[in-house]
Amino acid sequence: MSDAATDMTTQQRAAAKLPPCEPCDSLAAAFERHVRYGLSYIEGAESELFHALALSVKEQMLDAWLATRSKDNDFDTKQVAYLSLEFLMGRALGNALLNLDLTAQSREALSDYAVSFEQLQEAEHDAGLGNGGLGRLAACFLDSCASMDLAVTGYGIRYEYGMFAQKISDGYQIERPDRWLRDGNPWEVRLPSHNVTVPFFGHTESHVDKHGRRHMTWNDTHDVLAVAYDMPVPGYRNGRINTLRLWKAEATDDFDLDEFNQGDYSEAVASKNLAEQITMVLYPNDASENGKELRLRQQYFLSSASLQDLLRRYVAHHGEDFSQFAAKNVLQLNDTHPSIAVAELMRLLLDHYGLEWDAAWDITCNSLAYTNHTLLPEALERWPVPLFAHMLPRLLEIIYEINARYLELVAHHWPGDGAKLAAMSIIEEGPVAHVRMAYLAIVASFSVNGVAALHTQLLKEGLFRDFFSLWPHKFNNRTNGVTPRRWLAHANPRLAGLLSEHLGEGWITDLSQLSRLKDLIHDEPFLGRWREVKRANKAELVALVKRESGVSFDVDMLFDVQVKRIHEYKRQLLNILHVIHLYHQIQAGNTAGMVPRCVLIGGKAAPGYAMAKLIIKLAANVAHMVNSDPLVSPYLRFAFLPNYNVSAMEQICPAADLSEQISTAGKEASGTGNMKFMMNGALTIGTHDGANIEMLEAVGEDNIFLFGLSAAQVSDMRNHYRPGEAIALSPALTQVMALLKSGHFNLLEPGIFDSIIAAIESSDDQWMTAADFEAYRLAQENVARLYLDQHQWTQKSIRNTAASGRFSSDNTIAGYRDEIWRL
Ligand SMILES: *Cc1c(COP(=O)(O)O)cnc(C)c1O
Repeated sequence: MSDAATDMTTQQRAAAKLPPCEPCDSLAAAFERHVRYGLSYIEGAESELFHALALSVKEQMLDAWLATRSKDNDFDTKQVAYLSLEFLMGRALGNALLNLDLTAQSREALSDYAVSFEQLQEAEHDAGLGNGGLGRLAACFLDSCASMDLAVTGYGIRYEYGMFAQKISDGYQIERPDRWLRDGNPWEVRLPSHNVTVPFFGHTESHVDKHGRRHMTWNDTHDVLAVAYDMPVPGYRNGRINTLRLWKAEATDDFDLDEFNQGDYSEAVASKNLAEQITMVLYPNDASENGKELRLRQQYFLSSASLQDLLRRYVAHHGEDFSQFAAKNVLQLNDTHPSIAVAELMRLLLDHYGLEWDAAWDITCNSLAYTNHTLLPEALERWPVPLFAHMLPRLLEIIYEINARYLELVAHHWPGDGAKLAAMSIIEEGPVAHVRMAYLAIVASFSVNGVAALHTQLLKEGLFRDFFSLWPHKFNNRTNGVTPRRWLAHANPRLAGLLSEHLGEGWITDLSQLSRLKDLIHDEPFLGRWREVKRANKAELVALVKRESGVSFDVDMLFDVQVKRIHEYKRQLLNILHVIHLYHQIQAGNTAGMVPRCVLIGGKAAPGYAMAKLIIKLAANVAHMVNSDPLVSPYLRFAFLPNYNVSAMEQICPAADLSEQISTAGKEASGTGNMKFMMNGALTIGTHDGANIEMLEAVGEDNIFLFGLSAAQVSDMRNHYRPGEAIALSPALTQVMALLKSGHFNLLEPGIFDSIIAAIESSDDQWMTAADFEAYRLAQENVARLYLDQHQWTQKSIRNTAASGRFSSDNTIAGYRDEIWRL
């Protein structure tokens, strides 16, 4: 394993022997060169020009990229590997130009072409290598780490197909494959020198060496090649270029000799395609696992390749003395998805480097940290033991050994309590035994964190209560955040300009400086400018909504927005019920004091999640009725925006007046969409859930509309929930249910919404939609009343942006850096 030195150090050695290269050409010159030699440029081909510009920008980064690596290597800097099955990066160009301060130069370079800078950015495919919040968090963290000059590398999978593209046909979601790499990816660099092989299947054997020590070997494995593709992650104007290393699976060149010799040449070659399946597709399930074998293969592939890469780098510097490994490396696990890394790190240290168990365990426990992202039981990964035994036999042995030793500790802590042992075991017994991946992660990690104060508290009191009592010191909270570079400076240039004009540019790297906006809330001209910015952003969103869904929004109306994955716990249904209520009121002529609104819902449903898909269909059908009634349209417009993704959010959050964050309390771990909206001056209507609670603390109760049951009330009500009573007590909800049941929204499709109606009326409705309806309706009335007073509304909008500083991911990462990573 000690061919060792990383590729960049090899390059640096080579570079040291070469004469210094000519000064690199300017961005404009590089762009000219790429256009000229790109050969295929035809007038107006945005995609070709995008590639030429992206390649030029990448070239501008190469020196700094190398310098970053050599700096981190030379100073033997402690480094963090952020392991995540998802990185929802979106487009890279605009963000890179912002961080590198090359936007003006790019516009200049483009001025000779018949393509606008904006059109050119639209030509970039989103890197949709994630489902939603968890993957986008990883992307925001990478930006913050680079901008805060931290040596953090993202490790992920280079999926050939990212998150599916969503079309809406007759109101139904249709999934289309996302071949984002079809035209090539100008940002990536393939590094064959970093190849590693990842073993699967086979069997284990035990050997005794000449010192009488027992060793395990894992034989007859099917090996898969992991090839590294690096993507640059530029910090904000600080010279640091970090790396996102994405692994692609390829066949090794070891042909099956038997097949070969029998003359089955073609079959032997064709079977190599199996290896490449591993990184073919992102699983499109948000907050739920599907237990597919291929998914476990992805998890192990990522974990093994990344750990081999880290160990190789370590050995290049320190040789095979691993005593400093934990002092130089932290592995942050983004949810349980990569938690097989626990057993893989043990395997590599034991079987490849010959360490004793205790030494290997000590290193493992001091270098791993685990972030939990959800309390939903369906998201807690469990893998069947037989599957493990077949695919990863050596890993299963190691997990058994970890479990046996750990259960001794449990037995010591709770003497004679067999039930406790069973409850806390990493192996869940049953007709088919399962490996509980979250428990494996907790046992081996020195830090376990939740992602908002409420979420962490619920972890300690509920799901992980026993672990908290065993190891209270491991548990900590790191409330999520979002990067102000992408979500304010890049996405909302109008507001960014206004902020910088009054506050200087310091807020871009220190978002707490936005608190100084409070000095301006009595400055009438400033309030006018604030409104103009919002109005101009709304005009752009009007065009997007018209283009994508055919619905006409109006900038003079209140923009009420809920965009996020479609999930019952997020309660898009509650929002739709409210739209039906407004529709009914308008038709009944009760429009006194009503504020005209445009309601926008967007988001993807997991392809196998029938209820979520039906909620989209309901939204589409209600939208059709609302938008086709000329009596209604002066007061209400309703659109479902197809294919919600990062690029869409960049246009949506700057234009929203009202942000809907209405999950059932206790179910949304944090939310990050809520933070993007707040930063951009939207007011929030939401439940006492996730980070909404901390937003209330930051902005004050007069500037946010929180309503409904608390997490404690939701759980108290679980066993005696009577939705019928809640419906009867609310005349509004009674009418809404009657209208739904009458088939008014599905006249030609009888019965299609019966399961939605039944869910709302069921005492088993976990999401308690009916229970919160009336409180939600009243909160919406308060929203409308406030919107009539544009002066006050604007002041509250400013107060929201002013108080959003603590939701910068820079702030979150400072917490990880100081309290977990200790860089
Ligand atoms: C921020 C973001 C999310 C997360 O939104 P939540 O409202 O926190 O669920 C999901 N998808 C995209 C594209 C995002 O930008």
